[in-house]
Amino acid sequence: MARLSIQKIHVGQKDTNCYVVACAETKEAVVIDAGDDAPKILSQLDGLSVKWIVFTHAHPGHTGAKDEVKTATQATTGMHLADATAYLKSADRYLLSTDVLPFGEFALEVLITPGHTPGGLSFRVGNHVFTGDTLLAGKIGRVDLPGSSPQQMLLSLHGQLLTLPDNTVVYPGHGPNSTIGAERLGNPYLRIR
Ligand SMILES: [Zn+2]
Ligand SMILES: [Zn+2]
Repeated sequence: MARLSIQKIHVGQKDTNCYVVACAETKEAVVIDAGDDAPKILSQLDGLSVKWIVFTHAHPGHTGAKDEVKTATQATTGMHLADATAYLKSADRYLLSTDVLPFGEFALEVLITPGHTPGGLSFRVGNHVFTGDTLLAGKIGRVDLPGSSPQQMLLSLHGQLLTLPDNTVVYPGHGPNSTIGAERLGNPYLRIR
């Protein structure tokens, strides 16, 4: 079984987390949330063959380096159509819940998790989940923005993310990593009222 390598890169003024997820065997990789600092992201891609550049959502801090990273890698870009429409972005592929994006000996599974934005996505590979601004350590993303929906957020959290096993590592769009188990126990926003 090949090893998965996950690099976390802090980018931009809002300290957004960009992730480079790679198959250590084949060196094929995925970039999640190519935010505001293309040179910093590109400097972490040496020796990797990037297959996909995907976005948890289309807020500017998460998408600012999309075109530069695409030009440098020729990878396929992917996001949800609802966010492309809402934030006037474009991608090569508009992702659906049935999509599985292969890289090396792994594949990224697409989870539809709207609420923070209308087209929010999370991405899962093995016991790792990349949650963007849907679920963060000890908090959840804002639902008071244009295009946000508190009801959809609740469904995404309880109907999707919290159905994952407790040992699933959570890689959020900002701040430190967590686990589904730690959030289930300690995140005050996840208590059903
Ligand atoms: Zn956001
Ligand atoms: Zn954000």
